[in-house]
Amino acid sequence: MNVRTAKKALKKYFGYDSFRPMQQEIIEAIYDNKDSLVLMPTGGGKSICYQIPAITMPGTCVVVSPLISLMKDQVEGLKSNGVAAEFLNSSLSMADQRVVEEQLFRGELQMLYVSPEKLVSQGFLPFLKKRKINLFAIDEAHCISAWGHDFRPEYTKLKFLKKEFPDVPIVALTATADKTTRQDIQAQLGLDEPGLFIASFDRPNLSLEVRPGRQRIEQIIDFIYSHQDQPGIIYCLSRKSTEKIAEKLQQKGINAIPYHAGLGDEPRARAQEDFINDKVQIIVATIAFGMGIDKSNVRWIIHYNLPKNLENYYQEIGRAGRDGVASETLLFYSYSDVSIYKDILAQNASNPQHLELQMLKLDRMLQFAEASFCRRQILLTYFGENFQENCGNCDVCKNPPKYFDGTVIAQKALSAVYRLKGQVGMNVLIDVLRGSQKKSIYEKGYQNIKTFGAGRDMSNFEWQFFITQLINTGYLEVDYVDRMNLKLTEASMPVLFQNQEVPLVKFVPKKKKEKAPKYQPVERSPEEELFEVLRQLRRSIAQERGIPPYLIFSDATLHEMVRMQPMTDDHMLQVSGVSQRKLHLFGNQFKEAILEFKNRHFRKMGGTSYGISLELLNQGLNLKQIAETRSLALGTVYSHMASLYEEGEDVPILRFINEQEIKAVSKVVDKMEEVDKLKPIYEALNGEMEYNKIRLVLAYLKKNEKMLNN
Ligand code: ADP
Ligand code: ZN
Repeated sequence: MNVRTAKKALKKYFGYDSFRPMQQEIIEAIYDNKDSLVLMPTGGGKSICYQIPAITMPGTCVVVSPLISLMKDQVEGLKSNGVAAEFLNSSLSMADQRVVEEQLFRGELQMLYVSPEKLVSQGFLPFLKKRKINLFAIDEAHCISAWGHDFRPEYTKLKFLKKEFPDVPIVALTATADKTTRQDIQAQLGLDEPGLFIASFDRPNLSLEVRPGRQRIEQIIDFIYSHQDQPGIIYCLSRKSTEKIAEKLQQKGINAIPYHAGLGDEPRARAQEDFINDKVQIIVATIAFGMGIDKSNVRWIIHYNLPKNLENYYQEIGRAGRDGVASETLLFYSYSDVSIYKDILAQNASNPQHLELQMLKLDRMLQFAEASFCRRQILLTYFGENFQENCGNCDVCKNPPKYFDGTVIAQKALSAVYRLKGQVGMNVLIDVLRGSQKKSIYEKGYQNIKTFGAGRDMSNFEWQFFITQLINTGYLEVDYVDRMNLKLTEASMPVLFQNQEVPLVKFVPKKKKEKAPKYQPVERSPEEELFEVLRQLRRSIAQERGIPPYLIFSDATLHEMVRMQPMTDDHMLQVSGVSQRKLHLFGNQFKEAILEFKNRHFRKMGGTSYGISLELLNQGLNLKQIAETRSLALGTVYSHMASLYEEGEDVPILRFINEQEIKAVSKVVDKMEEVDKLKPIYEALNGEMEYNKIRLVLAYLKKNEKMLNN
């Protein structure tokens, strides 16, 4: 086995031209019969690492996967690429299991997916022993770690694999990167000096954005209106809010449904199914949603509430853009979320160390949300990667903050806190600064303090913006124990008493908006329209076959079809993600859809009907095939070529006419007064040259100025 075999299989079975970082090294290690431990982010392409060896090595690869719901999809996906794969788990009837077992016996399976329960069950081992196993792949290998949140007791029994099959390599794969988990996996599986493969956890196709949590519903509706037809997930904290938000979206005609643990099995399964099958655009979910799905075309994630740590945040946004296509993430944050968490944490604290760790993690989450430099840097640094450049795909990189001398503003705020003796939170502080006439302010006598009304010139929102910065930069502190009241810190003193300069980020007022976001049908470009046509086709094929649309072709593949507009088999095979099997199964339908669209819309696409004929020629069809494909007369296609050639297009005209033919026509034409009809030429040549050729030769002569009397 070598890399060339692997690359060939990658193209043939998956339609991909090259390996992603690390995939090749991992495959080579497996070919060398070595154990491997693979840490790659979601969407990094872990499956290819064992699927290619499985396909190219003699014998059967056994894949252990804890997610029964995913197994069926994975196997369907492999089958539609022409890989002989099946699965065994408790969802199959005894009879169906028997069928699969017999296939394995007969050596007909390249891959067998099994649940850990099945693998460790009585009687399965002798059965496996009867067949040549070439590789064990342990997917979601972190489930082995008792410390992790996905612990699966059966996984700890997997040690028998190494004992019973000492010569079969094991590859363990996970998207959980921490060291303890890694050590657990290695020890529990008894891996033999495994190769360690740690990919970068960066997901460059995910954009990162954070906004203050004000008027969230309006902002979300606005966001959805500008992302029509794009599947997305909105995460929020409580069951109740999933329902409330979904309802508000539905009232706006948006195709969104709630999802949470309290819904009951059946509605939950249906919600998930409808989302996977592109029947529901948006899921509004508690964090319970997402674990069991592989949907690769989730285009955006919104966090309605602040996640409680960066691990959760990264895992949740990671569910977008698994296909590598650009996807958006948007996080709303507010201090009230923080105080809710702090309360919950404090109530559930069984152990003070644990509590402190959770609080620290929450602080890091908050720092991320309030960052004034590249967010991806913060995120990846948190996960232990050395990432120093500005990513260019987060809101801070796109809109770098501008600083000004904010000393006076800081002094006003700090001095008010000082005079209020640290006994008020952000809202009251702003009321005092702005000289609010509220009864509660007067009752407390706050109108008498010296800074009352000193900040009238700025809006409530501006003050909130600056005070938040003062908190982030350490000039003020939120006392979570004392009702979130704001307190001075050591850093406050030099500002108050020594006039120390405080740089602040400029406030950029949001553009004035209409009262409510309005639905407007989007103007689609022809390319977007073609994408939509292909997406609908994909959906209807998926429906017929009862599998999720992204298993037919990924969004990435559809986008490439739109770019390349393949109308022939050869060209279709060049599209990344089109395997031979899929070409065979779906190629014609997609080719036809593209051609049909182009025939109908060539003007909008800035082309001509002639141009389509030329494209088909360039994609490898001959003129007769072009005529057939386009349902045109052959003569029409010839005249397309002639006209295009005359207009200076790059038509390989000498493929269709030869030197002699040119001479013959040239001779006849030289003797003619006028050349506006073909018939006289045809007759002068005694009917020995067909009209189509004469037409082409004339074009050639015209273009090359060999026609003397013209
Ligand atoms: P993971 O299991 O790591 O989350 P997957 O194995 O599901 O990731 O792969 C994510 C996506 O990337 C899939 O759509 C897969 O087909 C695609 N992919 C994997 N390897 C390649 C490659 N070498 N070239 C192009 N696409 C790839
Ligand atoms: Zn950035």
